[in-house]
Amino acid sequence: MKRIVVKVGSSTITHENGLLNLRKIEKLVCVLSDLKNAGHEILLVSSGAIAAGRGKMHKDTRPSSLQEKQALACIGQCELMYIYDKFFSQYSQKIGQLLITKEVYTQEDLKTNVIDTLKTLLFYQVIPVINENDGIAIDEIVYGDNDTLSAITASLVNADLLIVLSDIDGFYDKNPSIYKDAKKIDYITCIDEAILNAAEDTNSSVGTGGMKTKLQAAIIACKHQCDMIIASGDDPSILYDILDGKQVGTLFKSGGE
Ligand code: ADP
Repeated sequence: MKRIVVKVGSSTITHENGLLNLRKIEKLVCVLSDLKNAGHEILLVSSGAIAAGRGKMHKDTRPSSLQEKQALACIGQCELMYIYDKFFSQYSQKIGQLLITKEVYTQEDLKTNVIDTLKTLLFYQVIPVINENDGIAIDEIVYGDNDTLSAITASLVNADLLIVLSDIDGFYDKNPSIYKDAKKIDYITCIDEAILNAAEDTNSSVGTGGMKTKLQAAIIACKHQCDMIIASGDDPSILYDILDGKQVGTLFKSGGE
């Protein structure tokens, strides 16, 4: 049985118009609950607060100013958790919200607290649902970096596996949304210069981090003996394939970097 951190990006759980994709979220929750029932320990790192906030405030256009984004994130975080809680409850799962900032990685007392909280939640058989504290953190909203946050989370709880569900089905030798001849790389043991150069920012209007932040996440995860997989979030049942050991997405094998 594994301790697994699953990260879903905004583009995975929202429609093209930026609003929440409830069917996708419900499917994700069903699969995660099932994996939990099978004995795995699950932690979910979820973006989507701004999308939920827009839905609640009936905002047709994407927010542009930082203040507006942060306000919508505050409104939407409650909504997002309400939706997660509702769906997870259908499968008799309990969740706990944890909003963190990247300082937990650098400030020892904060780090110890977060580790204790997460471990206690897992001990209680609760699924932690984690997001950056968007109302006060600038980094995540500006740079779109729940990727790094998910790797930090994985390192804090000594996770066995970090799964990053994305709008793309893996890491390519160049940006596939620009170069049609880009080839997917199945297995990466060493994040060298060539790999770093292949990673570009996102072209999606909802996603924010792109591949650069996913590579940073892979570097953090691998340094902490945690494998990381980037896979498509199109159909959350891909998580079953991953845990069945099927070749899916791109595996960053720890021990290499
Ligand atoms: P998410 O919102 O799911 O986290 P992002 O949109 O932030 O995803 O990042 C994935 C996007 O990164 C891809 O759709 C693609 O446009 C871009 N990208 C840049 N370089 C690469 C690469 N080498 N391999 C795959 N995708 C890449």
